Amino acid sequence: MGAHRPTPELPRHLEALYARFPFDRSWDDDPVSEVRPLAGTPRQAEVAGLFAATLAIGNTTAIRGAVRRLAGIADGDLTSLLGPATPGRTARLTAFRHRWIRGDQLGYLARVLAEYYSRRPSLEGAFLDGLDRGGFAGGIDALARTARGEGLAGRLGPPPPGYRALFPSPWDPTASPCKRLTLFVRWMVRDRFPDFGVWRRVPTGELRVPLDQHVHWIAYHLGLTARRSRSWSVVEEVSEALRRIDPIDPTRYDFVLCHTGISGDCPKERDLAVCGPCSVRPDCLLWRRRGAAA
Ligand code: SF4
Repeated sequence: MGAHRPTPELPRHLEALYARFPFDRSWDDDPVSEVRPLAGTPRQAEVAGLFAATLAIGNTTAIRGAVRRLAGIADGDLTSLLGPATPGRTARLTAFRHRWIRGDQLGYLARVLAEYYSRRPSLEGAFLDGLDRGGFAGGIDALARTARGEGLAGRLGPPPPGYRALFPSPWDPTASPCKRLTLFVRWMVRDRFPDFGVWRRVPTGELRVPLDQHVHWIAYHLGLTARRSRSWSVVEEVSEALRRIDPIDPTRYDFVLCHTGISGDCPKERDLAVCGPCSVRPDCLLWRRRGAAA
């Protein structure tokens, strides 16, 4: 466990990984590339971002396809889902499926958002309320409660089966890593590629890393966490390690670490042909344990 720490050279090697990264290739593969054309205004970015983050389950091709299909139902403007429903649109939304996510659940989310926006201008307010009360986890908890529509069942009717489970909170007994809402907040807060930067009151230094399986795998092997299972504690641990490297922008490397895994650039095993040019090979536990020259 004692050796399970990042090397002193990791910041320099991460920067080299970032500098050489083929952003264009991975941009095309990332769901955010489907959100960008839907994000003309801050409200559109927020709504499209929340729907897309909610759909961010499974492989990136399927997620991008799901966002495209939903955008088709909404005629290219996901905020239109928050308005009065037409019979044709309702039928198409009802038929929508992505993995276990159903169109009736997305329709309920649209109604929750319409109700929220009738009272407040932006989801940033809900996030900040939670941030003030309980730090970043509190902000995610507040967003989860908002998206679940807590307290709205009397007005909107009960949510469809499985709806609330779409929006886990770090404070649930499962201590979920809450990858999708954490990703949504990164999109909203960072104003550098590939994010939207429409929330201006949340400091980027507060951001936590959206911990999917790829980011967790590489974070573990770079010594940023010693824990094998994903949980909110691991999100905090990895984010703190990245904050020591870049206190202003701790999620700067998230896109690169995630797509190093998604793209197959990292085979997740010792393979000299693939690992040879990897900038973080001297820091990777697979090579540190047995010698980077092997
Ligand atoms: S050295 Fe190989 S296994 Fe380790 S992070 Fe790099 S590509 Fe992945």
